[in-house]
Amino acid sequence: MDFLDAGNTGTYGHPVPTKGPLGAKQGKAILVSGHDLKDMEELLKQSAGKGVYVYSHGEMLPTHAYPELKKYDHFYGHYGTAWQNQAKEFSQFPGAILMTTNCIQRPKEPYKSNIFTCGLVGWPGIAHISDRNFQPVIDRALALPGFQEDENGKEVMVGFGRNTVLGVADKVIEAVKGKAIRHFFVVAGCDGAKPGRNYYTEFVEKVPKDTVVLTFACGKFRFFDKDLGDIGGIPRLLDIGQCNDAHSAIQIAVALANAFNVGVNDLPLSIICSWYEQKAAAILLSLLQLGIKDIRLGPSLPAFVSPNVLDVLVKTFDIKPISTPDEDLKAILG
Ligand code: SF4
Repeated sequence: MDFLDAGNTGTYGHPVPTKGPLGAKQGKAILVSGHDLKDMEELLKQSAGKGVYVYSHGEMLPTHAYPELKKYDHFYGHYGTAWQNQAKEFSQFPGAILMTTNCIQRPKEPYKSNIFTCGLVGWPGIAHISDRNFQPVIDRALALPGFQEDENGKEVMVGFGRNTVLGVADKVIEAVKGKAIRHFFVVAGCDGAKPGRNYYTEFVEKVPKDTVVLTFACGKFRFFDKDLGDIGGIPRLLDIGQCNDAHSAIQIAVALANAFNVGVNDLPLSIICSWYEQKAAAILLSLLQLGIKDIRLGPSLPAFVSPNVLDVLVKTFDIKPISTPDEDLKAILG
């Protein structure tokens, strides 16, 4: 994650707070999903001046905040939510779709001929681009109707990576010392289709007004467009980025711990993790390796957590399954 962070921020600059429109512009359209910033950059370069607008989908939302990506005028907005809603969202998208990296679902008939895969991701019978020449995607977008008119939508703020948050560290520390901020919640991880996942929406809706929510990965689509307001100019909902930007969240936590001269586990900070697939497991293992304790995990425990493994995780790391938002908030805040 450290290497990836260095690669992404070194090449595209540190994310800066940026509004991502959720509406659409009249005109031809390309939707880019997945996680790969290099694919996004190449597509933006190759599609510039061709009469198409580019939209992010899912985990590509944070790309709006990178200076070297947001500089493209035709990189307009964000469309859609997390991976499990793909079939519905892609069926309604009036342009071409590019799927980078993982989390593709079986493509459905309405968009089978509009979707392309690249890099490590692929699907039998779906056009694959292996050399980052995205002309076929652009051609398909030009052949499709695109959006017939401008569609107004909300805007969401992205770009609260470690550089931005630590850039206002003094303000944050003052707010904690002055008790304007009582607690930080990191509500993050992968989304999924199980019904229990509205826990995360409710949790964020119920956190008290003197607390701040940091989020990353596609679990945020359960609450990403909520307006939680701010505390003395610090937004109460801070989007740190993609799942791999868990690294950035850790850097923020470590810097806060240093500022207060305590360990990360002693900070007024709780991690509420939504688990789904292999990347989330890798991130969870990284957090455990760093000695982070008291993580709440849900909506169900990963299959590899056998009773014996659970026993070790509970004894060593004080891991807990989520219960209800009310009970968990009461347990955390007292
Ligand atoms: S956060 Fe996890 S589930 Fe969501 S798109 Fe990324 S890897 Fe997939």
